Amino acid sequence: MGGKGWFLLKLLMFQGLFTSRLQDPGFDFFYFVLQWPGAYCDTKRACCYPTTGKPAADFGIHGLWPNYNDGSYPSNCDPDSEFDPAEISDLVSTMQTKWPTLSCPSNNGSKFWEHEWEKHGTCSESVMDQHKYFENTLALRDRVNLLQILQDAGINPDDEFYDLQDIKNAIKDGTGFTPVIHCNKDPDKNSQLHEIFFCVDTSGTEFIECPIIPRDRCPSKLQFAMF
Ligand code: 5GP
Repeated sequence: MGGKGWFLLKLLMFQGLFTSRLQDPGFDFFYFVLQWPGAYCDTKRACCYPTTGKPAADFGIHGLWPNYNDGSYPSNCDPDSEFDPAEISDLVSTMQTKWPTLSCPSNNGSKFWEHEWEKHGTCSESVMDQHKYFENTLALRDRVNLLQILQDAGINPDDEFYDLQDIKNAIKDGTGFTPVIHCNKDPDKNSQLHEIFFCVDTSGTEFIECPIIPRDRCPSKLQFAMF
């Protein structure tokens, strides 16, 4: 190959490297995590309502977390990218209703959102900026009306016990996707429905079946706490 040929080949290889970098988001999928406020509050640890008022008795967002197929995940990827409430000012009132904080002391939610952005969001900056990260997460929440789906299947937040499999089947039938369920324990050590995980593609917009199936961290019968 002549000098020109080599040059062209090198140019193509360099371009290929560059585009594959651009196409590789640096993670394999997202977990989209919803929390049941009744379970967050019904533990030995205290919960506090946000300064903006008691959240609705509905699933709230915990976060959108980039993950790897081996089960590990990146975190705190860009210390230079600080949470900036000014960038999401148009989303804040929706975040207050759909992404309320329950940690103490009471605050308006910014601390929770800042934590989620800094720990998880900064690891998906190859795909979306801060505004898109929060906007996409809110849009995912709109696409799964979990409480309605569960109630339609006769599963209500009434402190009663339900079969884990019935909960999973109802969610799979209602959303088309298999969820992963996490439990925590109430002060009497009963396991209760705490968080529901869905998997989302690397664009942060489409639900997918989870590439890895972590164990549900719940016994076969669990409580669905009142809130
Ligand atoms: P992550 O699970 O996203 O890594 O961390 C959650 C962090 O957000 C914890 O430090 C927790 O104290 C804080 N936080 C603030 N509000 C909430 C809330 O409503 N639910 C949960 N799960 N964490 C919250």
